[in-house]
Amino acid sequence: AQAKLDDKDPQAQALGYVSDTAKADGKKYPKHANTQTCNNCALFQGKATDAAGGCPLFAGKQVAGKGWCSAWAKKA
Ligand code: SF4
Repeated sequence: AQAKLDDKDPQAQALGYVSDTAKADGKKYPKHANTQTCNNCALFQGKATDAAGGCPLFAGKQVAGKGWCSAWAKKA
């Protein structure tokens, strides 16, 4: 399996990625809500129940299902 994206990865930090959506920086990202998670993001490559999956913004790594980043987008 692919390595998990580390919250401290510079690319992760650039997008405000956290492996737990509850830890997102709400001051920096006022549109964040704890209901927004990687596994319900339009870009997530996996099912809504998956604990981890791919994301095109972080090629070669797996993002946490309950993670979040500032590029979160609602599924159509
Ligand atoms: Fe998670 Fe979506 Fe950000 Fe990818 S774009 S890291 S799936 S919130």
